Amino acid sequence: MEQTGFSERLQDALKARRLRQSDILRVAEEEGFKLSKSQMSQYVSGRVIPRRRVMQFLAELLEVDVEWLARGSEQELPDFRLGEGSGILSEARVFRKSSKLDNVLYDVRGPVLDEACRMEEQGAQILKLNIGNPAPFGFRAPEEVLYDMGRQLKDCEGYSDSKGLFSARKAIMQYMQTKNVPGVTMDDIYTGNGVSELINLSLSALLNTGDEVLIPSPDYPLWTACVTLAGGKAVHYRCDEEADWMPDIADMRSRITRRTKAIVVINPNNPTGALYPKPVLEEIAELARQHQLMLFSDEIYDRLILNGEEHISLASLAPDLFCVTFSGLSKSHMIAGYRVGWMVISGNKALGRDYIEGLNMLSNMRLCSNVPAQSIVQTALGGFQSVKGYTVPGGRIYEQAEYIYKAVNDIPGLSAVKPKAAFYIFPKIDVRRFRIVDDERFALDLLKEKRILIVHGRGFNWPEPDHFRIVYLPRIAVLEEAMGKLKDFLAHYRQQ
Ligand code: PLP
Repeated sequence: MEQTGFSERLQDALKARRLRQSDILRVAEEEGFKLSKSQMSQYVSGRVIPRRRVMQFLAELLEVDVEWLARGSEQELPDFRLGEGSGILSEARVFRKSSKLDNVLYDVRGPVLDEACRMEEQGAQILKLNIGNPAPFGFRAPEEVLYDMGRQLKDCEGYSDSKGLFSARKAIMQYMQTKNVPGVTMDDIYTGNGVSELINLSLSALLNTGDEVLIPSPDYPLWTACVTLAGGKAVHYRCDEEADWMPDIADMRSRITRRTKAIVVINPNNPTGALYPKPVLEEIAELARQHQLMLFSDEIYDRLILNGEEHISLASLAPDLFCVTFSGLSKSHMIAGYRVGWMVISGNKALGRDYIEGLNMLSNMRLCSNVPAQSIVQTALGGFQSVKGYTVPGGRIYEQAEYIYKAVNDIPGLSAVKPKAAFYIFPKIDVRRFRIVDDERFALDLLKEKRILIVHGRGFNWPEPDHFRIVYLPRIAVLEEAMGKLKDFLAHYRQQ
């Protein structure tokens, strides 16, 4: 390799990107990539040519083709050559996504959905069992909610307090009292544009590069995605299908390191439909206590419990720990599109004084959450809870859960734990029987042949290709059709 040529190309690329050697060294350090100051200056001076791994790293950072950087070609600096001597870019500059997104995954709306949309554009009718969005399946918002929002709309034109309207936070505070979470004040409550916004906000305010957060596997993948985006490391603990998808506490314990800051619990669980009993929650709280960890509890499905079982808020068992509890109205009031959720700080708040400053800063920066949606929190949380009717015998969600559980287990090669809450089931596939090695391909093949859209298990950070999630929100007649097609498909499907 011709050394002077390499050094010139490196310098040209640095100049074109307006980067200095120190910038490269800083990024290398942030990403944990070994690159010393003297190595870098030897590359720039042309005394040494880097090895392949470093060449690749430099090429990615400088957004040039690695072959071009290593060997050069007729065409100098593809994509953004410098104007002669002017320092001004004379060719179209290509904009690439941030490398912060490199390991971020959100396959609930991923490539299989892209293919479904493409097929729909060509006229195909796709049965979407991929996303927990109640409205398209005929679940409507309670009339009182719609009426009250209409009444208040004219008063919702301005920004609210960044944490939310007084009436909304008061209702959330009282709701937490009914869930036996002690000591919650109005100041401890933040409303958000759905729980989604607050998951992102709460992790951005907490994590430094390399901080670890324990997250269930399978998970609702936004948690893992937001930890990664905030520079942290998502460490997955296993939930055990053999034990009705309960968190494996021994596995959780074995994954705690010096860098672990928090445990995330999703209860009721998406995608498994599990509901955690008190002893399991107590064990998790005890682990957090022993290792001085923060608890994040995502309880967005806490009112969608089947057959009258009780939901216990994790924070109610951990008054001595720093807890953040998340919930909202997307699922319980079938108004996912209105974007309204909240998070509540409880327990030993003194431990998180500095963190709370960070939360307040980020909350202030987004000004406030959707005010018309906040205006109906009080209506939604008070009085008659129409969602209850869906979850008892004769109610839609209850009956659909009963149906799907039986239908899945009746298909040879599939098995599933009975869901106790929410509206998801996470069936296991006998991968040997169907010779499945890639669950995303399984989802794609099912989509193409039967026009049914599901999400593959690895989309929920489940490590093996042997599960998928069904959203059982459609009416039983529709589910029957879907299960019939799935049975036909699996009667002949062999991936390899
Ligand atoms: N948390 C869990 C476990 C979910 O399943 C979802 C949505 O499906 C969310 C949070 C996000 O909900 P929201 O609509 O409040 O953003």
